[in-house]
Amino acid sequence: MLENLIAQPADKILALMAAFKADPRDTKVDLGVGVYKDATGNTPVMRAVKEAERRIVADQTTKAYTGLAGDPAFGAAMRDLVLGDSVAAERVAAVATPGGTGAIRQALELIKMASPDATVWLSNPTWPNHPSIIRYLGMNMAEYRYFDSATRGVDFAGLIEDLGQIKSGDVVLIHGCCHNPTGANLRAEQIAEIITLMQTKGAIPFIDIAYQGFGDGLQEDAQITRQIASAFDNCLIAASCSKNFGIYRERTGILMGIAKDADQQKLTQQTLQFLNRQNYSFPPDHGARVVTTILNDPALRKDWEAELEETRNGMLVLRQQLADELRRLTNSDRFDFLAHHRGMFSLLGTSPDKVEKLRADHGIYMVGDSRMNIAGLNADTVPILAKAIVAAGI
Ligand code: PMP
Repeated sequence: MLENLIAQPADKILALMAAFKADPRDTKVDLGVGVYKDATGNTPVMRAVKEAERRIVADQTTKAYTGLAGDPAFGAAMRDLVLGDSVAAERVAAVATPGGTGAIRQALELIKMASPDATVWLSNPTWPNHPSIIRYLGMNMAEYRYFDSATRGVDFAGLIEDLGQIKSGDVVLIHGCCHNPTGANLRAEQIAEIITLMQTKGAIPFIDIAYQGFGDGLQEDAQITRQIASAFDNCLIAASCSKNFGIYRERTGILMGIAKDADQQKLTQQTLQFLNRQNYSFPPDHGARVVTTILNDPALRKDWEAELEETRNGMLVLRQQLADELRRLTNSDRFDFLAHHRGMFSLLGTSPDKVEKLRADHGIYMVGDSRMNIAGLNADTVPILAKAIVAAGI
């Protein structure tokens, strides 16, 4: 049987991680994998997470199964964090999932079940796992223009033109904040225009929000999600706790399905639980319990928000430093977009051979499409990167 297998494409980012590890240069800089790193290159366990874990270990009296949806308290806390009061709670079905990826997978399975002929529209570019899972599930997929390689902002005219082709029942996947890989984000008035277009076409929104708190702030970063969720009868939201709680390996995420009314919510909830049962039965609990403990304890929550703010501001400082340094070296504002982008990533907008040149000549590792993880920098490596960008003729 196993001789029938054919090798699957390797994950490019994981391959890049391995190449970085094997590089002997001590000046090497890792801007590859999408994990937050502090100035020393460490991915810390957040203070509030440590304390929540201490309490959980001390107080937990059982490891028996939770429910198929996970702990309902996690669902309620996450609904509140992501949606605020933008949608009535009785319209929201929710299941805990293994990370944001698990939520995306379950959302796509739900779409496939409910409307097998729907086309899922993705931004070009997007996080490569989106098209990869869609292809694996054998679903229809199309792209809408997103990135303007001249301005390194959003190609809004292209986006509107492409979304003009969507058909009734199609699903449009939108990054809730901190677009991966570009760092270029939509403004509220642009979202309003997209909403009107999608409503006219009868399309369904699917929001992937994996970086709430990494862009402009916890509430600000939820704005697009809330704006969209409150405008449609149906909406799917996949939220990840990996980045904003720094609990990557605990696999903590949630899929929310917003239904038209309470009856439809019951059916959606039952279906989401069925999907969990088919794929992995009960979702992981530890990370979800950590998140719930933090969100429901005012002191822990305050400390978590403070540390998240430090993280967010640290990335903004690095963005500004890099833009300033490039302004100085090039005597131009060509790289100011780096300061305007938000989140952990910026798409430099250069060719794969220039990316390779940065790696070979300067030991700077970024994804082949020129996505840089801004959190991989520190005050010492910003000037090194700026110099290398100029030397590579970018
Ligand atoms: N969506 C996007 C856009 C992401 O960048 C990521 C993480 N790389 C995820 C979802 C899911 O992350 P995780 O499964 O680790 O929670």
